Amino acid sequence: MAEESVRISLCQVRAGLGAWLLAAGTACAANASVAPSRPLPAASSAAAAPWCDRISARLPTVSASTCRQSAVVPSGAKSNNGFPILERDIGASAGSTAPRVLLLGGIHGDELTASALVFRWLQTIDTPAAQGLNWKVVPLLNPDGLLAAKPQRVNAHGVDLNRNFPTPDWQREAPRYWAKVTRSDPRRFPGKSPLSEPESRWVHQTIENFHPDLVVSVHAPFGVLDFDGDAEPPRKFGRLNYRKVGVYPGSLGNYSGQHKQVPVITIELPHAQAMPSDAEIQRIWLDMLEWIRTNLN
Ligand SMILES: [Zn+2]
Repeated sequence: MAEESVRISLCQVRAGLGAWLLAAGTACAANASVAPSRPLPAASSAAAAPWCDRISARLPTVSASTCRQSAVVPSGAKSNNGFPILERDIGASAGSTAPRVLLLGGIHGDELTASALVFRWLQTIDTPAAQGLNWKVVPLLNPDGLLAAKPQRVNAHGVDLNRNFPTPDWQREAPRYWAKVTRSDPRRFPGKSPLSEPESRWVHQTIENFHPDLVVSVHAPFGVLDFDGDAEPPRKFGRLNYRKVGVYPGSLGNYSGQHKQVPVITIELPHAQAMPSDAEIQRIWLDMLEWIRTNLN
């Protein structure tokens, strides 16, 4: 995508007959009323505020006010250490049949950019480019890992949440893979049983209840895109190119994309600590919206 086109605010507004209107620049303003997001009750928005101080102390690029403005609220689920799983729902419109996207950041607590990127995207999710989709956004899925004395991949129980999903034959495959292939790497411990952890249970239940058409999970630091599912894999988001990383027992991509037929895009940012440029953050976002527009309608 050319630099010039990145600066253009690409608007994607779903029209009543299922067609997508593409418009640029000022034309977007006229369309803004077509698909307003639901306003959040002030009380529920404020409820997330105390948590934002702790999150911003750990994420240098996310200020406490940015966190509060992101309007995430406690989902009702909590981590092992009692930190709420914070979420934000943004609906295209009541009863809309628009695609449903579950956007997850920070399933691995030491991948700081993954959570920070989702907070950044939450600042722009009210723009017309993202309207017309039904979103459930969780910027920080493994708060205990992020907020540990030193950020860690695993959760407070030492479980790699991205190996804790109930893929077929988990009881046999996951422990064996961990012992033989990872040589019992403590950073990749899959847990004692599938869904042993509240954070992975929340994702599992959300897939059942929210019925996403797509799951996007943001990681770092491999600098690629991965994809699990039946749809056409994304070729390129920003500078990230598609490369099949692998299929692991208990991973979210394996469980959701291959077993549940809910496709999973895994975005691997190039660094766990250093954020991409603002232009690159926007480019990945717009390329992702374009892939959704092309493939989920
Ligand atoms: Zn990761």
